[in-house]
Amino acid sequence: MSKKDFFIASLLGGAVGDALGYTVEFMKLDEIKAKYGEEGIADLEVNPYSGHALISDDTQMTLFTADGMIWAYERMRDRGIGSYAGSGVYQSYLRWLYTQTKRMPDEHYDWLLDPQPHEGKHRILNYRELFSARAPGNTCLSALESNKMGTIEKPINNSKGCGGVMRVAPVGLFLHKNPEQAFRVAAEVAAITHGHPSGYLASGALAVIIAELINGKSMANSVEQGIVILKSYPHHEETLHALEASVGFAGSEKQPEDAIGELGEGWIAEEALAIGLYCALKEPDFKKALMMAVNHDGDSDSTGAICGNIMGAHNGLEAVPQEWTEQVELKELIVELSNRLYDLAAEAR
Ligand SMILES: [Mg+2]
Repeated sequence: MSKKDFFIASLLGGAVGDALGYTVEFMKLDEIKAKYGEEGIADLEVNPYSGHALISDDTQMTLFTADGMIWAYERMRDRGIGSYAGSGVYQSYLRWLYTQTKRMPDEHYDWLLDPQPHEGKHRILNYRELFSARAPGNTCLSALESNKMGTIEKPINNSKGCGGVMRVAPVGLFLHKNPEQAFRVAAEVAAITHGHPSGYLASGALAVIIAELINGKSMANSVEQGIVILKSYPHHEETLHALEASVGFAGSEKQPEDAIGELGEGWIAEEALAIGLYCALKEPDFKKALMMAVNHDGDSDSTGAICGNIMGAHNGLEAVPQEWTEQVELKELIVELSNRLYDLAAEAR
C-alpha cells in the first residue's frame, strides 16, 4: 500500500465511524441495546432517500478543514502570505457556517462563496450533502457567527467541547513530516471555535498521533510522541490525564464497557480523544473497533470518527470495511480531498 492509501483510509475511516455513530448519537447504551441487540449497532444504516449512510457534522467539518488546509497552503506557496488556521481554515469554516445558516457573519465575507483559485472541479460548495443540518455543534455555530476568530492567545470562549478534535485529522495528515507543526496548527484550528486549553490541546495530540502513524511509527510510539509534545504546552494536565487513562485501560484487563464508562462520554474534547484512541488501541479489527467506539452512552459519532481516523492512519485502506466505504455519503469527495492533501504534502517542504 502506498502512503496515499493511509491518507484516504484515515478520512474514510473517520467518515464510516461518524456514520455508524450518528444513528445512535443521542441514545444511551440501554436504548441502543434494546433496539439493536446485545452487541449494539453493528452496521451502517442506509438512508432510504439518498441510498447512502449519512455522515454528520464531524465529517462535514473535517472536509472543510481539508479544503481550508489546501486553500491556505496554495496561497502561502503562490503568494507567500497567510497561515493555515488564520487564512485558510477560518475562511473555510465561514463557508461551513454558510452551509448551515445561509448567512455569513458580515457581508464582507460574501466573496468566500465565489470559486477560489485552489478549487478544481470538486468544488466543496457544490456538494449539497454538506448543506444538510446533521446536528451541528452550537459552539462552532456561535463562535463563527461572532465574526471573531478565536486563537490560542485570544480565546473565543471557554468551551472544551469535542467540536475541535473531531475535525482536525486532515492537519495531522497534511503536516505529518513535522509533528510539532501538526500539533500547533491543529490546536490553532480547534481554537478558532474552542477556547479552553483542553478543547484545542486534544486536537494537537490527535494530529501528532495521526502524523506519526503516517510516518510508520507504532501506535505506542505515536501516542508517546503526542504526549511528549502535549507536555510542552501550558494547561496540558487534563488532556494528559485522559490520554494516560486511555493507554492504561487499553493495556489492562478492564472490560471495554467499563473502561469507556470511566473515560467519560466524549462530549468534551479530551474524553472524545481518550475513547476513540482507547478503542483503536484495544481492538485490532476495524469494524469491531468502530462498534466499540460508538456503542456507549455518549457522543457516539465523534468518538467513532476519531477512532476511524486513527485506525485508518494505522492500518491503511485495505483494512477499512469496503461494504461501509461503498455506502457512506460523499465517498468521492473524501477520496478526492485525501488525494490532494497527499499530493500537496509531498511537494511541501
Ligand atoms: Mg456529529
